[in-house]
Amino acid sequence: MNRTADRLMPLAAEGRLYPSVIVSGGTADDRRRLAFELGRALLCERAPEERPCGECRHCRRIDPDRYASEARAKAPSEKRRGKAGDAGDVGVRQSHPDVLLLERPPGRRDILVDMVRPVVRSAQMSPYEARGQVFVIAEANTLNVNAADVLLKTLEEPVGGTPRHFLLLAASAQELLPTLRSRSLTVYLRGERAAVDDERTAELVAHWRRQPDGDGFALWVSALADRLVQVGGKELDDVRDRQSWTRIATAVTEVAGALDDRGDRAAALALANDLLDAHRLRERYIQPRRIIEGLAARRLRPDRPETGFESSVNVLMGPP
Ligand SMILES: [Zn+2]
Repeated sequence: MNRTADRLMPLAAEGRLYPSVIVSGGTADDRRRLAFELGRALLCERAPEERPCGECRHCRRIDPDRYASEARAKAPSEKRRGKAGDAGDVGVRQSHPDVLLLERPPGRRDILVDMVRPVVRSAQMSPYEARGQVFVIAEANTLNVNAADVLLKTLEEPVGGTPRHFLLLAASAQELLPTLRSRSLTVYLRGERAAVDDERTAELVAHWRRQPDGDGFALWVSALADRLVQVGGKELDDVRDRQSWTRIATAVTEVAGALDDRGDRAAALALANDLLDAHRLRERYIQPRRIIEGLAARRLRPDRPETGFESSVNVLMGPP
């Protein structure tokens, strides 16, 4: 497990995990394993400090390998019509009755609205055995617009006092619809290529904490941008290089994790999300450094008048 997991597991064990979490970065297997570990911590029947125990009746069934070998459910409507083959494959797997894994059926490009319905139906019912419910959506980036809309309504309508957790897995959070992103906590697992070394993260955190008021701010943002450009590496010379921006966003997320103030943390996470989108800027004549300055300025000091670099980024990306 890595530091992202270290931060999330206690929250899950204590029942304080955000209801919707986007797990991004790492490999598909990393994301899935973390989701199931979180599922265990959320539903394990032992005392919070012992969760997940790995041994109780819940933990044993919340196992990614068990889920992988579990047959997918068929859509009820298809069964009624007696269709053969996997035409009605809804991509739902279930080994624990309160933990549902939804994944894109093989051969399909998207997760369609019919495939999301079993999730919505379950979420409207009480848990069978555990104290809450967990819904894992693998490749959440393949939810089509209608499917994402239906899921979104479910996220927005909590039923009673039952804890329900949605874990949306995707290589990159920016591939998810903005509406889903805005209602979810996004976490990044460090992949091989997205690694940011600890020393550099510590240096960034130290710089962040020295954020000045008033006139020193523009200089401070420039120095921050310099450091983040270094994190991005040589590849950042091409503004469209997604990996570089992911590395930078990961670094900023790490910084957010180290900040004590809630407002600071929220601003840093918002900046990290902006940075993930930065590769979409097609205007290659703008230096990456200027883009970072603009994004940082508008996220970190929304109360101040716009600076030059800020307004150029606002023109390109729209208001924050
Ligand atoms: Zn357990």
